[in-house]
Amino acid sequence: MALQCGIVGLPNVGKSTIFNALTKSHNAEMANYPCCTIDPNVGVVEVPDQRFDTLVEMVQPKKHVPAAVEFVDIAGLVAGASKGEGLGNKFLAHIRQVDAILHVVRCFEDEEITRTTEALDPINDIEVIELELVLSDLEQVDNALSNLAKRRKGGDKEAVSKSEVLEKVLPTLKEGKLALSTGLKQEEKNLIKDMALLTLKPMLFAGNVNENYIAEPEKAPVYQKLMQYAKERNALLVPISGKIEAELTQLEPEEEKDFLADLGLEEPGLNRVIRAAYNTLGYATFFTAGEQEVRAWNIVAGVSAPEAAAEIHTDIQKGFIRAEVTSYEDAVEASSLKKAQEAGKMRLEGKEYIVKDGDIVYFRFST
Ligand code: GDP
Repeated sequence: MALQCGIVGLPNVGKSTIFNALTKSHNAEMANYPCCTIDPNVGVVEVPDQRFDTLVEMVQPKKHVPAAVEFVDIAGLVAGASKGEGLGNKFLAHIRQVDAILHVVRCFEDEEITRTTEALDPINDIEVIELELVLSDLEQVDNALSNLAKRRKGGDKEAVSKSEVLEKVLPTLKEGKLALSTGLKQEEKNLIKDMALLTLKPMLFAGNVNENYIAEPEKAPVYQKLMQYAKERNALLVPISGKIEAELTQLEPEEEKDFLADLGLEEPGLNRVIRAAYNTLGYATFFTAGEQEVRAWNIVAGVSAPEAAAEIHTDIQKGFIRAEVTSYEDAVEASSLKKAQEAGKMRLEGKEYIVKDGDIVYFRFST
């Protein structure tokens, strides 16, 4: 399933501009992703991956399907949303469903385009948004704790362990900090997964900089502040220029290359945004490659071969016999997947095998 990334940020920071550029330039063929939502605010975009392109060229399949990320443009969040301002709670309910949050932060100056705050201050902007998310989580946690209290008294084990985790999170939220900063262990996070706390989701930032700074964003004073902030938080930050990305969508591929080269860029900023969204979640890619189809599949890094097989079909997981694995590097070195396999580079792996990023896999299974 394509992972889902919600775009948030204050009004007029460039969210829609970036969303529109994403969906225009990387629009995936919906037929390949039947589980994805059909909604004007949801765009399914292909994950740019040089390895996938090389494999397609090598195998020349009838069909090819890249990995995908679903972006959701979530309408402007304003101060007071957790209390119902703006789109309020409807907005917040929408982001509860996403896997990761892309926070767009305005770093560009433009007198013509109103800001919701007086001075251009990315940290303040981030705090406005995050406070709303924290307040919404606080309400959720408070309510859940009251609801669990009865079951807890009755000795319900699940209610006890869940409440214990929530009680750890509560003081963090009360201090106005993200639930993420509580430092919960994975098992603890799993216990409260059903609550889909907003501030427990992986978050990455996109700094929307003036186009004249895009080749060297670290020279833009406002972006510098954001870099420092992201570093302290251990969060991923990617620079982007909404204006340039919007212009790129108007160009033919050849013109695009020249335009990027003039700006001193190797690829559109959107490619970086998509990859960062993918990596923030700790996702990895494995490939299946045959004459019929070459396809890239999303997995959470660290899953076993049968779990990876379930991405394709649960029947393959159930009837798993073994995985025939060739690494991408070996295929490239032999300049053909078949030649690499003939040269003995294909390994037979069992149920315990942890699938690696870049593995090309063929699953054997019985029905
Ligand atoms: P949203 O409210 O966050 O979705 O913001 P929009 O994407 O609608 O952008 C608000 C305004 O800022 C629009 O007029 C955009 O054209 C403009 N804008 C977006 N990105 C940039 C940028 O990188 N530079 C400049 N100068 N304007 C931008």
